[in-house]
Amino acid sequence: MPNKRILITGAAGFLGSHLSDRFIQEGFDVVGMDNLITGDIKNIEHLMGLKEFEFYHHDVSKYVHVPGHIDYILHFASPASPIDYLKIPIQTLKVGSLGTHNLLGFAMAKKARILVASTSEVYGDPTVHPQNEDYWGNVNPVGPRGVYDEAKRFQEAITMAYHTYHGLETRIVRIFNTYGPRMRLNDGRVLPAFIGQALRGEDLTIFGDGTQTRSFCYQSDLIEGIYRLLMSDYPYPVNIGNPSEITINQFAEEIIKLTGTTQKLVHKPLPKDDPKQRQPDISRAKEILGWEPKINREEGLKITYDYFKSLSPEELKKSAHRFD
Ligand code: UDP
Repeated sequence: MPNKRILITGAAGFLGSHLSDRFIQEGFDVVGMDNLITGDIKNIEHLMGLKEFEFYHHDVSKYVHVPGHIDYILHFASPASPIDYLKIPIQTLKVGSLGTHNLLGFAMAKKARILVASTSEVYGDPTVHPQNEDYWGNVNPVGPRGVYDEAKRFQEAITMAYHTYHGLETRIVRIFNTYGPRMRLNDGRVLPAFIGQALRGEDLTIFGDGTQTRSFCYQSDLIEGIYRLLMSDYPYPVNIGNPSEITINQFAEEIIKLTGTTQKLVHKPLPKDDPKQRQPDISRAKEILGWEPKINREEGLKITYDYFKSLSPEELKKSAHRFD
């Protein structure tokens, strides 16, 4: 019997690379695909020599073809930080819409099961707290986040349509803020921003008054939840995230304690449509997948900080975007 074979789009990204590692550990052959706009080949360099891993440098918003059998697909290709999708809004819309359509067609052709990466951004700036999967969201379609939020909402809609109309085996994960090694230092997200600033001896930038909340999940917990969801028979959206919620001010204090930085906190304007609060209700994941996060923030932040500390001074200095 040949190994099970899985296509992972966005394989050179933060989550895609950890998923590639996990599925290789589980005995799969992994086909990684990435156009390397926001992904980094360094994240998967260690897999390149393995016979269980192959890599396609390809943009999934164009026709997707991989020879041979494919049993599973994980669609994780997409810019995922507010700064990225502000810089490349059209690509963001295309990968979530055209890219998803291509991969659903590809899944049909291969008779493969497909899991698509959705996001807590489908809830927008939520008026329900914590957010459960039955909440429909509060999204501004024409705001700066609209290109990501609406692409992901369309992605969920077309994935459900392929499930109901074509009987395709589909899974939808709604991912909340996640962190860990291999996040891009310059992706603009709050954790690499704060840690990068601490390491470079710069002030920490708090957007707005810092009372907005987020709930941060360590990557290995998220990967476990995704693995369980893919192997389950549940076709409806499932939130995966860590319900431990803090304000951005508290988060900055934790980073100051962790890094020992003596720099100040400085306030910058709050970006438009920045959600005021975000916390996953994970009752569904607990019930259906028997899943809950195990790594607390203290532990996860320490591992992540050690990773960023291990980067070279040149990498640390990087602040410009590759597509500037
Ligand atoms: N944020 C901040 N300083 C930064 C970067 C982000 O205060 O240098 C805030 C941002 O306004 C948001 C929160 O941190 O309220 C999380 O931002 P991130 O970009 O990580 O992801 P989001 O959850 O907004 O998609």
